[in-house]
Amino acid sequence: MQLKDGFNITVSIIERMKEVFEILPSEQRSKCALCDETMTHVIKKIEAEAQVSNRAACRFMSAQTGKNESTIRSAVNKVQGKVVEKSTSTATNSKHIDIVGKVIEKTGTNDDKKGTISQQDAIRMVSKETGKSESAVKKQVQRAKSKSVFNKSDIEWCDFTWNPVTGCHHNCPYCYARGIATRFTDIFPRGFEYHVREERFFAPDNQPYPKPGHDKVFVCSMADLFGEWVEEEVITRILSIVSAHPEWTFIFLTKNADRLPGYEFPENAWVGVTVDKESGLAPALTGLSGVDALTKFISFEPLLEEFFVDTDHIKTVVDWVIIGCESGNRKGRFIPKFSYIYDLYHRFSKDGFPVFLKPNVALSFPQHLPRTHYDA
Ligand code: SF4
Repeated sequence: MQLKDGFNITVSIIERMKEVFEILPSEQRSKCALCDETMTHVIKKIEAEAQVSNRAACRFMSAQTGKNESTIRSAVNKVQGKVVEKSTSTATNSKHIDIVGKVIEKTGTNDDKKGTISQQDAIRMVSKETGKSESAVKKQVQRAKSKSVFNKSDIEWCDFTWNPVTGCHHNCPYCYARGIATRFTDIFPRGFEYHVREERFFAPDNQPYPKPGHDKVFVCSMADLFGEWVEEEVITRILSIVSAHPEWTFIFLTKNADRLPGYEFPENAWVGVTVDKESGLAPALTGLSGVDALTKFISFEPLLEEFFVDTDHIKTVVDWVIIGCESGNRKGRFIPKFSYIYDLYHRFSKDGFPVFLKPNVALSFPQHLPRTHYDA
């Protein structure tokens, strides 16, 4: 089987891989039957010997064994997750203690002449001492200090939220996030201003491996990551972290669909656009059409007016939709007619298209609405 230009895996390797791979379904076994290493190395061997990506190696094994590719990926990732946890903590205990310990030693010591050394100065000094770049030293210090993990979420369509960036400038009148950010100033020292939370970039590393079916992470529930004010580098860093954590499904949602095309979204990313008025639909569809993501969606939330939309056309672009009303009692809040919601829901959900009806819709019409359907 050809995996890369000019490279063919030999039959014996294929047979060996197949033989070893047979042990994967019994996930209790964490060793390779052939050489007593972790079974992750089977994929690693393919990656190394064929010089292909982990994804290609898993696809190859799927073709060879007839097993589902996602089963293979999740089995391998599960083991990798444990290995990574171990190796990360080992690294923390050795390399990090060296570097981080040096920084802490300096910042915690009073210099006779100058007083306490700032962390930035200490990083500079350790960088010179060890020959590592300042940014590498800084990153290790941040990683060692970070206790950041995901937050459990009450949002119905995800399990956790992760906010490596907070604050948003869209200024929506109904924004719930602004209220939280301006109230809890200890957690949001800059209120609702744009703020890159460096320490939170390590949350996916710190987070325990997800339980089956509880792997959905809403990225930036307190911000719009694709807002015009967010630096390119911040977005690409976050996408690379997402790519490094295939054990989670990361859900991105923006009001600025224009900025989506051009980014490479990893396989474990869902990409959605929020539309609250009909005028937002065309840019949402254009933006999402320019995105290559496994799952794309539109969140019609909160409905601020009635939509006269071509649901069949929308279904050619996205894989599911969310419909939600505005919560709370804001003056001027739009309350849709029951017939309108009913019609919209049924036009989307006919033929089994997945629609998530927010409970705030059902709560408005408890006697009428069909049961929430969610099958994303
Ligand atoms: S886009 Fe979201 S976070 Fe930003 S102001 Fe609007 S509701 Fe708030």
